[in-house]
Amino acid sequence: MTAFDQGPWPRDLLGAVQRAGYTEPTAIQAQSWPIALQGYDMISVAKTGSGKTVAFLFPGLMHIAERGNGRDARGPMMLALAPTRELATQIQEECYKFGQAAGVQSVCLYGGAPKGRQLSQLRARPQICIATPGRLNDLLESRMVDMSSATYVVLDEADRMLDMGFEPQIRRILQNVPVDRQTLFFTATWPKAVIRVATAILTNPIQVN
Ligand code: ADP
Ligand code: MG
Repeated sequence: MTAFDQGPWPRDLLGAVQRAGYTEPTAIQAQSWPIALQGYDMISVAKTGSGKTVAFLFPGLMHIAERGNGRDARGPMMLALAPTRELATQIQEECYKFGQAAGVQSVCLYGGAPKGRQLSQLRARPQICIATPGRLNDLLESRMVDMSSATYVVLDEADRMLDMGFEPQIRRILQNVPVDRQTLFFTATWPKAVIRVATAILTNPIQVN
């Protein structure tokens, strides 16, 4: 998919692309979309600044639309895990830019901030949850968040999350999302430790470099 208008994107989304000033998809976007849109699990090895957020967000927005925008969902349908508050917040900014016109809302859950405001945003029934693994695991354990509708799951900067020691939290989070889900795994590096985790949590993934 080498042009935005080759995708199945609704008019609203193409309008947001135009307003953002994006003229053509980045390589990772062009390669990821056909795979993600067909529902495959995916491993993407790509460096920072390559446009990964839009690579997983646009198919995620289509996934949400196919599920009727989540009117009957028990919780968010798309979950994106990121290593830090800063990276999680950056993802949320893209969600806002591109999801708003379609009425798609998001919540960003990270540690080091009070839970009250994050929980009240959850009550607005956002379709997308962006979270750092520690805080999300914490909220799942105290049953303050329901991830049983999260059928589109993204691990962003997965190598960094593993470096930071988040593997146990990630594993527990994945026990709380449907087994029958689509999982997208983004990493900047591809060492043995990362391969091992990717192999454990993905089903017949297609790899893009
Ligand atoms: P990564 O997650 O790979 O580091 P981002 O998704 O954060 O990259 O994107 C990096 C920057 O490029 C952001 O400022 C984003 O708005 C911009 N960007 C993403 N896709 C495009 C595109 N197709 N055309 C122009 N700019 C883009
Ligand atoms: Mg990123």
